[in-house]
Amino acid sequence: MKALVIEDTLTTLTVVCQQLERMGIVPISARDCAAGLKLFEEHRPDIVLLDIILPGMDGLEVARQIRTMEAGTEWTPIIFLSARTSDDDVSQGIAAGGDDYLTKPVSMSVIGAKVRAMQRIAQMRYSLLVLTRRLNEANQELQRLSAVDGLTGIANRRHFDQTLEREWRRCLRAAQPLSLILFDIDCFKQYNDALGHQAGDECLRTVAAALGAQLRRPADMVARYGGEEFVAVLPETDLKGAMMLAEKMRRAVEFMAISHPCSVAGSNVTVSAGAANALPSRDSNPAALLEMADAALYDAKRGGRNSVCSRTAAALDPSGTEED
Ligand code: GH3
Ligand code: MG
Ligand code: MG
Ligand code: MG
Repeated sequence: MKALVIEDTLTTLTVVCQQLERMGIVPISARDCAAGLKLFEEHRPDIVLLDIILPGMDGLEVARQIRTMEAGTEWTPIIFLSARTSDDDVSQGIAAGGDDYLTKPVSMSVIGAKVRAMQRIAQMRYSLLVLTRRLNEANQELQRLSAVDGLTGIANRRHFDQTLEREWRRCLRAAQPLSLILFDIDCFKQYNDALGHQAGDECLRTVAAALGAQLRRPADMVARYGGEEFVAVLPETDLKGAMMLAEKMRRAVEFMAISHPCSVAGSNVTVSAGAANALPSRDSNPAALLEMADAALYDAKRGGRNSVCSRTAAALDPSGTEED
């Protein structure tokens, strides 16, 4: 532990430093303000013992400058040692940033006790800082975990719901289209039945990674929607773009060549996909977009699986025609 003593009277300086040494504290001393502030910057002591009447500026100004240097993030205990004894002097000292105020002549045992008390507060403050940092880290980790699907490591349903709401509002403000793609693994029940649940879980992880790897734009996201269903949110993307990406993602899963012993759609694990697009408006909502994607997915299943179908907002309008 290091203590900075700023005191112009040599006899006082010497006895205070001796007392600190007896307590196992290393004293650093200065006899004027400028030298004291320089030493403070260089050594960042654990405590400062500060005279008030000093050559140059006074000790109050030194305390203010120390508090400015700490910028509110650090705290070094400051104890004033002064020959000024009025109540006003004490309150000025505390107002300038001091933590305690001792009047001269000061007994060495009182200095020792006050330094110890400050050490105790500094230690508590340090423990609190460590705890706060750990708490912040734990909170960040918790926040990350609350957004991630435990099995596949991609975004979970909760995170998807929040993202869809947010992107809907953003695209509404920007008058930009928003696309969704729903994916569903083909004949996954049979896959599980034939190879077991663990193989099924491994397959879900591989499919999730294959789908996620196809996204390029930072705003795009893929999430696990439910059991063996995945969903991609594509802001500022029209239907043509969404169809291209859906097809790329479908092929990526097929090319993983995960052998499926009993699928009606082929010898490997495949996905069916439903893409939907809308220009968000105040009359519509994200749930309607999801319904369109679901209807398109159903079309893909009905059409033989391992394929992509689509719907646009026109399909919601009774006068509009359905697109594929
Ligand atoms: P379809 O081609 O029509 O989609 O047929 P399917 O068998 O994939 O559809 P269905 O919805 O009947 O079956 C989904 C199956 O997905 C049911 C369940 O066995 C499996 N499943 C859902 N979640 C999980 C999971 O977390 N792990 C594993 N291993 N299997 C899951
Ligand atoms: Mg003095
Ligand atoms: Mg399903
Ligand atoms: Mg399925």
